Amino acid sequence: MQENGVFALGKYSIGVGDRFAHQAKAQLQACIKARDAGLTVIPVWNKSNREHAIIGSEPSSVRRAAHAAVEALHWTDPYFCDADHITVETVGRFMSSCDFFTVDVADAIGRPALSADIDAFVKRRRNLLGIIQLAGIDEAFAITVEDLTQTARKFLAAVKQAGGVYQAIAAAKGIGTFLPEISMDETDNAQSPVELLIILAAIADEGIPIRTIAPKFSGRFNKGVDYVGDVDQFERELALDMAAIAYAVEHFGLPSDLKLSVHSGSDKFSIYPAIHACMKRFDAGVHLKTAGTTWLEELIGLAEAGGDALALTKEIYAEAYGHREELCAPYFAVIDIDPAKLPSPEQVRGWSSQQYTSALRHVQKNPAYNGSFRQLLHVGFKIAAKMGRRYLDLLEANEGVIARNVTENLYERHIVPVFLGRKE
Ligand SMILES: [Zn+2]
Repeated sequence: MQENGVFALGKYSIGVGDRFAHQAKAQLQACIKARDAGLTVIPVWNKSNREHAIIGSEPSSVRRAAHAAVEALHWTDPYFCDADHITVETVGRFMSSCDFFTVDVADAIGRPALSADIDAFVKRRRNLLGIIQLAGIDEAFAITVEDLTQTARKFLAAVKQAGGVYQAIAAAKGIGTFLPEISMDETDNAQSPVELLIILAAIADEGIPIRTIAPKFSGRFNKGVDYVGDVDQFERELALDMAAIAYAVEHFGLPSDLKLSVHSGSDKFSIYPAIHACMKRFDAGVHLKTAGTTWLEELIGLAEAGGDALALTKEIYAEAYGHREELCAPYFAVIDIDPAKLPSPEQVRGWSSQQYTSALRHVQKNPAYNGSFRQLLHVGFKIAAKMGRRYLDLLEANEGVIARNVTENLYERHIVPVFLGRKE
């Protein structure tokens, strides 16, 4: 529960992942730096069911770690724990620990809806037909009966499914005691801004008071590495999405603080200036999810520490290299590893701290940076999870150097360019 009773995410918020529940303080420190720079960025700790399953953790551990960090650093603004990418099957264990629910309905996109439901939707939303002029945008949306019908055919079943999950959470926790998000990002095709507008109408009809929505944007959002796609196109699409959301708030009765949730898969540096520019242009907020990057900062801190800690990071790489196919399988849609660019475990065994951190740290202008190496380690957290206490003891023994990397990464590479709009 929110201690101070304020149930709003605020305009700017950042979703952080803390796979081993050891970095909440270092992550919160980045939000404190933002506050010191004059901007409130609300922290949300997110962890998916998949991550809990791989690590063998319970949602209550996320809440405990977040709460302890908030107490230790005297954070007085809200903070949230996000049941990330849950479905009706997986939501149960998150009920008591979470107050933010990312309802994932990507699997239901394209599933046929009842034709009576489609007809009813098209009839109810006839007011969307014709030309819709969005504030702050030159081009207008032209929506035909065909567009409404097609979009309903593709997304109505998914929205109805989200409604079912929302109702289950509301029944368990009480209406207005949590923030609902709907995510449609883990799918192959991007949703167009027109589709987003129509989907929002359906969500309003379904009675889901969503506070954030995560569409799939065009381009590739691979785990832990930069955006691959046309940045100008992304910016045009983002502007239309923000304008569509403003329209939906005004006309569909959705919550006034509804905003986009950008599921970044971490480190989409090249689109950060576009996100910042659009937020300024529409005076809009954003929720930026950047989950997996902290685990890599743990590895960087351990490598920097040298000795046993550096040796462990090499062992983790060797294991990840040996099991690369099974580690990558759950993420095949969101990683692009070039096997030819992966150094052999023997090579890595000879590396210095500096060689390891330069290959891993996401500084693209550094010639030693290796995106394939980074992506493999990004999905390799299962190896560290299997090491159990051995890994955690080294995290604890090297807390200082790791925390410095975690805070600096989150603040300098994410919060500053997205929310403060300063160049790196
Ligand atoms: Zn996502």
